[in-house]
Amino acid sequence: MSMLDDNVRCGDDGQLTCARCAAVLAAAGERHLHRALLRTGEVSLAGPHVRAADPPVVNERVEFRQLLCPSCGTALLTEVVAAADRDTRTATVPGRGAPVRRGS
Ligand SMILES: [Zn+2]
Repeated sequence: MSMLDDNVRCGDDGQLTCARCAAVLAAAGERHLHRALLRTGEVSLAGPHVRAADPPVVNERVEFRQLLCPSCGTALLTEVVAAADRDTRTATVPGRGAPVRRGS
């Protein structure tokens, strides 16, 4: 078992679990944080010090995204990204010591 970050553990078989409550966040071979809950909304949800640039610096609409543990609600990943970008979080964790692959 290893820690991917403060809130996510990775088992020897690649299963990801919540470090707070041990809920399964992704079984071995599933997409990174596959079972996490997704919260989306306006950029202002990220906090009072985060806002979309005015004028915009990119030609795309951006949105707030947050992945939460489905059991205890711990925030696992928070980001402001292009709303059309749906492929960013598709990594899998194949097993301990193996590199994280993106885009699979
Ligand atoms: Zn949890």
